[in-house]
This record gives sequence, structure tokens and C-alpha cells, in this order.
Amino acid sequence: MMMRMKTILCFFLALTVAWAQFPPLDVLKQAALEMVEGRRTLTQQIVDSLFSFSELGYQEHESSAYLVKLLEKEGFQVTRGVAGLPTAFVASWGSGKPVIGFMTDIDGLPETSQKPGVPWHEPLVPNGPGHGEGHNSGQGVNITAALVVKALMQKHKIPGTIRIYPGIAEELIGSRTYMVNAGLFKDVDVMLSSHVSTDFSTGYGGPSGSGLVSVEYTFHGRSAHGASAPWVGRSALDAVELMNIGWNFRREHIRPEHRSHYVIVQGGDQPNVVPPVASVWYYFREWDYDRIRQLHELGSKIARAAADMTDTTVTERVLAATWPGHFNKPIAEALYENIKRVGMPAWSEDDQKLARAAQTELKAKPTGLKTEIAELRAAGEGRSGAGSDDIAEVSWNLPTVVLRYPANIPGMIGHHWSSAIAVATPIAHKGCTAGAKAYALTALDLLLKPELLEAARQYFAEQTKETKWKSLIPEGTAPPVHLNKEKMDRFRPALQKLRYDPTRYKTYLEQLGIAYPSTR
Ligand SMILES: [Zn+2]
Repeated sequence: MMMRMKTILCFFLALTVAWAQFPPLDVLKQAALEMVEGRRTLTQQIVDSLFSFSELGYQEHESSAYLVKLLEKEGFQVTRGVAGLPTAFVASWGSGKPVIGFMTDIDGLPETSQKPGVPWHEPLVPNGPGHGEGHNSGQGVNITAALVVKALMQKHKIPGTIRIYPGIAEELIGSRTYMVNAGLFKDVDVMLSSHVSTDFSTGYGGPSGSGLVSVEYTFHGRSAHGASAPWVGRSALDAVELMNIGWNFRREHIRPEHRSHYVIVQGGDQPNVVPPVASVWYYFREWDYDRIRQLHELGSKIARAAADMTDTTVTERVLAATWPGHFNKPIAEALYENIKRVGMPAWSEDDQKLARAAQTELKAKPTGLKTEIAELRAAGEGRSGAGSDDIAEVSWNLPTVVLRYPANIPGMIGHHWSSAIAVATPIAHKGCTAGAKAYALTALDLLLKPELLEAARQYFAEQTKETKWKSLIPEGTAPPVHLNKEKMDRFRPALQKLRYDPTRYKTYLEQLGIAYPSTR
């Protein structure tokens, strides 16, 4: 015991000596703030580039290639196509502990194409994909912060490793479970994740957002002539419809905290052919592992009953899943202190004009952009809406926080073209610079304050003491990377013509010839 105490003492002594070589944390933080500011153009170029690629989940090929090229140029070692996800990668720089991860989504949404800076609906590509949530902006935050921290680590010989990960197909909850199962975060100490918001803030605790299982049910019947001998056929579409009717009647008797919704993916070919194959895709959302599983089991029971009623058979495929999130309090508190230090961006009158114009168009209150940082929030059931985010899977495997940086206009509709208006304009550029500052400062805290890392570990140990994460995806399931392929292939030629070229244009707005702000 005495020996162990001695070893520990020696260890701390050695660390103290080592830290004494570094400039004071506050001096490093001041330098980081200036360095992030000095990389504003890079931040803007990342934000605008990903916006112009507008790639849907699992099809983020150009976005991924662009980021990998940038990171390799900056000296990161990159492994591509990890966890069975062709567009995922792990970029690593540095050596030894601590290992600090940065992660954020890069996928867009169908039907949300929109000209940036224009407050009414004007798509870049009619019916095309777009960044109707703003996932184009997060890597601008993370990479800028990581590069600044890397420069300071190099200059002052601060030990540690930086990892950069993309969130693939987040709109389909499509990557983190697979990445966790592939062991990509095994040696990572802390994950700093970021997400676009109208606020500048973070939160801690759980449940943060609901969890879900995404399941596709496919029914198999028998084809026949729809008029001359329909009794010979068995309609798979009938089964889909009966499953949906069954689910919708049952819905009244499921606790209201749950959420469930579906789309019919395949409903047959033409009316005079009895559909031999039909499929329906469900999201089952609840607030803990057991309830999510029970909801999924209920769905499968109703699917089997529908198959029985129609003399068809049914198979199911789990496409994705996530737990509700639980975020690390000590890191969130440290991050929040840094958010307070950075403060909200200084919006220009033009930024506010665009925001108010968009709010007026959307019939929201014309309050403009927020000018005060939001409160540090403790999660609670129902408080954060019922949406899901698979960063939650990471949060159950290592200490994780989500930075919400102010890069969008309040009052826009989620998963809608209106949420794409601001995310390739000075509003997003400034919001991402502010976010990068907060994360650069927080990464420095983690590198130079061992007591913060220790507190984060202790909180995580407490969080996972009784509740042990296990994957909601059956073992051996491959990620459904076929999703969105056809849709994306259809729009690629039009999108390629609209690629942002930073060598010729200062901003994407300039390339598109859009006056900022455009108002009626
Ligand atoms: Zn999102």
C-alpha cells in the first residue's frame, strides 16, 4: 500500500514538473482565442463547402473526401471506411494520453435544398437534398478548434492525442452504434461533440433526447392478376396496411411519452398486379433501453399478426438504434465557463435583418438572432423534445458533451428548407467561430487540468454503475449503407455544378451571386 502511495505521489510530482514547463493555462487560452479568430476563413470554407455538397446520410462521399484531404494536409493520420461505413473515417494526430475526440455530423436531409441567405423558399436544386438542419457547419467548429489546439500542443510540447470523427447518416441515427461496436472509441478519454443551434450552450445528465430502434418490416405474398384472379394472390401491401392500422389503434394504449412513425418504402408496382413484396419502415422511440425494446417487440408482434391475417410472411431488419443520451456534467460545466468567456457573436445589422425577414416569412416572432448565451441545462424527461441523436451511443461509452453553437435563426422549422437559410451565411460563419473558440478552450482545460479529466471519469463511472449500455442492434448487423443511394445519384449531376470553389470565390454567397441579406 505504501509503495502504491509512493508511486502515485511520484506520478503526480512528475506531472506537476511537466506542467510547470507550459505557459499558464490562461495565456494559452488567450492565444487560442486569437488563433481561432485568425482561422475564420478556414472555418467559413469548411461550412460553405459541406453546404454545397448537400449529401444525404451514408452518401457523404464528397464531404468525407474533402475533410480527409484537409486533415491529411494538416498532418493527421486518417483511416477511411471504418465500421463498415464507406464515408466514415478516424483522423488522429499526436501521441499518448489524454486522447480527446471531436465528433460532429455531416449529412443533409431530403427535400431541403435552399439558397443560403434567401429567407423564402428558393431551392438550389428543386426537390433536392440540402442542409435543412445545418449539419454542414459542425466540422467548421471542430476542425478549427482541433487545429488550433494542435498548433499549441506542438509549440509547447504538450502531450496528448487529437481524434476527429464524422457523424455519418445522423438523420438516420445511422453510425454511432456501429462505430462503438467496432471499438473506435476504446482509448478515447473524452468526446467533444457539437451541434448547430440558435443558442450558445451545453447541457448534462440524461435522458437527453429519446432513444429509438429503426426497423424495416418486409412482407412477402404472392403475385397474381389483379382483376382476372386476385384470389390466387396474397397482397404484401394488405399486410403493410393492416400492420399500420393495428399500430395506430394500439397507439392510444401506449404511454404518451413514446413516439412512433413510419413510411411505406415499397407498396407494389401497379394496381393490376397483386403486390408480392411490400415494406414499411418504423421508428420506435422511448426513454430507456427496456421500453425501447418492448415497443420494438410490440411492433414485431403486430407485424406477425398482419402477416397471419393476409397469409403472407414477414421479415424484419433493424437499420439503426440509439439510447437516449446522457452527457458529462464536469466537462459540460467546464465548457459552459468557456462559452461564457467567448460570449455570443457580434451580429451585424445585416445578420439581424436576414433573421427577422426569415422569421416574418415563417410567421414566427421577428425577434432576430439571440444575443445572450443560454443557461447551462440539466437534462430531464421531456425537456429537450423527443428527437434522438446517436451521439447518445457515444455518451454511454465514454465521457461526452455536446456543444450547441449559435449558427441558426430562432423560429425556423426543423428538418425543413427554412433551417438551411442561415447555415452558409455570416450567421453560421460567426457562430462556428464562436463554437470553435469554446471548444479550443475546453480542449486546453482537458489537456492541462488532470483534475477535470478525473472528475469526468468519476461522473461517467457513476453514470454507468447500475445502467450498462448494450447495443439495440442485433450482433452482426451491417449498416444499411444502401439507403439514399438512388436519391443521391439522381441529384449529384445538378449538385456538382453548384460545388463551392474557394479558390475563386470568397464565400458561397458570392459564388451564387446572392445579395446579403436578400429581403423582399
Ligand atoms: Zn442534427
